[in-house]
Amino acid sequence: MTKIGLEIHCQLTKLESKLFCSCKANYREFEPNTNICPICMGIPGSLPLLNKSAVEKATLIAMALDCRTPDKIAFFRKNYFYPDLPKNFQITQLNAYGNTSIGWEGKISVGNVKIRIRRIQLEEDPGRLIYEGATEKTKLTLVDYNRAGTPLVEIVTEPDFETPHQVREFLNILSDLLENLNVSDPGLEGAMRADANVSIEGGSKVEIKNIGSFHDLEKAVHFEITRQQSLAERKIEIVQETRHWDDGRKITVSARTKEEEAEYRYHLEADIPWVRINDGTKNQLQIHMPESISSKKERYVSKYGITPQVADILSSDRYFSELFEKANNETNAKDIANMITTDIMGLLDTREKRDASKLKGDHITDLVEYIKSNKITRASAKLALDEVIKNGKRLSEIIEDLNLGHVSNEDVLSGIIAEVLDEEAKAVEDSKQNPDIVNFLVGKVMQKTRGKADPELTLLLLKKHLDID
Ligand SMILES: [Zn+2]
Repeated sequence: MTKIGLEIHCQLTKLESKLFCSCKANYREFEPNTNICPICMGIPGSLPLLNKSAVEKATLIAMALDCRTPDKIAFFRKNYFYPDLPKNFQITQLNAYGNTSIGWEGKISVGNVKIRIRRIQLEEDPGRLIYEGATEKTKLTLVDYNRAGTPLVEIVTEPDFETPHQVREFLNILSDLLENLNVSDPGLEGAMRADANVSIEGGSKVEIKNIGSFHDLEKAVHFEITRQQSLAERKIEIVQETRHWDDGRKITVSARTKEEEAEYRYHLEADIPWVRINDGTKNQLQIHMPESISSKKERYVSKYGITPQVADILSSDRYFSELFEKANNETNAKDIANMITTDIMGLLDTREKRDASKLKGDHITDLVEYIKSNKITRASAKLALDEVIKNGKRLSEIIEDLNLGHVSNEDVLSGIIAEVLDEEAKAVEDSKQNPDIVNFLVGKVMQKTRGKADPELTLLLLKKHLDID
């Protein structure tokens, strides 16, 4: 049987500062090597100071993943030499003296499969190595320490996955969950990275390191299963090793033989005392935990009668569910949900577009009400939506600016219809044989009014003119 386990590294991107110093957690804004200080550089004599919010956010993750949480946490030094880690050790966690990491024994359901979470730990991210050209052939490697010391949560699963598809599903669920908890923004480059370990029946475990995208992770796991199966068929031994994912060639390549855990010479980080997390703190976190995606979905269906499919799409995306909550005035909930999922999601499909968007909940409430009360057509609503996203003006203003008001005055409409009937003499003639042609003429009236004609009234008037029942 194929067994796949994951180690996911997730940055706590919503924090102000790094894990042990006051440098900014949002290292992405800075010129290389300007977001650093003696603590994150590990200058002798500097002392780390633990970021309380990081502990709280990490504990939230542990709780949301149904983990058991400790009464006190401890930090350890993991010693290794690597240019992205100027201290020569990483401050991380290890359950060496009982369970002292942020959480353990949790679970996530992926369809009908339960994926067990072995452990969650809080640790610091190292700096970033930047290779000139391809990793294998680089002549020059640059180091940027801005990221060094930013808070990272490592989530380790049991080897409960059997297919690459399950891995992908799990990562989607996990990233929605982290976003919903408001602890991380998985859309940011490098905010979520994963290692996978893969073994097939009778073979050793192979680890695939540091894959940056979910899409690639699924591919890498798939490749690795195929590679191992092919070795097994040819009776070649599968050696225990670490492999890298070569993004260009879409294959895994052997990196080095696996280090044993003991080689890291873990020992307690004496500069950080054990930190107690009492029941009061845990209760407070529980009380203020954002509503879970599944409970949101249930509420949308039961309270507002939204279809489960729409509720599913809406609840699993934090940005759009927030927009829905703000727009929702309980009378038009269903229409608002539909407008968000059918029109707005497509217009705001990237992070950049969402950041730039001026659209507020009120705009959506107004749009839906205007359509319902026949003040504008659906086609005009789309034009108005584009405009609102760009400039955030009030809907009434936009309708006036763009002259989008509904044409529902019978005289005005009759005039336009007369023009159309004049221009489309052949269609008028054909309509005697084929009454369905009236729909084509409705389309022509719509075109002339740039989508503003009241469709029902247009149809009625046209039928009258053409003498159709
Ligand atoms: Zn620092």
